Amino acid sequence: MRRPIIAGNWKMHKGPDETIAFLDELLPRVSNIEDREVVIAPPFVSLITAARRLRGSRVKLSAQNCHWENRGAFTGEVSPSMLLEAGCTYVIIGHSERRQLFGETNQSVNRRVLGALAAGLIPILCIGENLEERKAKHTLAVVERQLRKSLEDVEADDAETLVVAYEPVWAIGTGISASAEQAQEVHFFIRQFFEKQYNKTLANSIKILYGGSVKEDNVDELMAQPDIDGTLVGGASLKAAEFERIVRFMEPNAS
Ligand code: PEP
Repeated sequence: MRRPIIAGNWKMHKGPDETIAFLDELLPRVSNIEDREVVIAPPFVSLITAARRLRGSRVKLSAQNCHWENRGAFTGEVSPSMLLEAGCTYVIIGHSERRQLFGETNQSVNRRVLGALAAGLIPILCIGENLEERKAKHTLAVVERQLRKSLEDVEADDAETLVVAYEPVWAIGTGISASAEQAQEVHFFIRQFFEKQYNKTLANSIKILYGGSVKEDNVDELMAQPDIDGTLVGGASLKAAEFERIVRFMEPNAS
């Protein structure tokens, strides 16, 4: 059984004050939820505030990026050990906005994954094709290359702790989600990759999230797919009521 993860990627939204206000609204809404993990990923400056407010709750904290070294002359960067100290369990790595806007490559993503794992953080490794690649039917080849390169030198013991987020670039922030069938096809392929690269047990246990315009009205269908183990949610994670509904996917009484 893979316990689902619903993670909210806040991107560059919510400083410390807004973080407190949001959590004051969200936490009572999700406090009784045990069968799925709720994760929020605020900007760096809000992590410590969030960690304090999350004490005693089951909601977990994620950062949105990290450097690979734990200390050094890297102006503007934040290290994996600092994130751990700040209270993070997870760190998003290789988000398409980092790749497109800030020059991230599969090689730098690989270094960040290795650094995060070494520090004891769980990487949420983001992969996904752009629109041209999908139109050219290169989706699976692109995803395979991203996985192979991002996971270079990652041993099975570490790989089994990873979370993968399949996020087609054309679906992020566009309001156009992949269909449940499109997402399931890629998730199944990713699971097969882990079976070939590592082993069947690891492939069966690894959690693969879908991200890209997940909303209240498509989350149930996506989460009904056998290889979709959760969602990485951007825009719809910024309002507590909307995020709660996504967290409560497929619950009989969810509105
Ligand atoms: C994301 O930022 O990872 C994301 C999936 O964004 P959105 O849900 O807004 O498409």
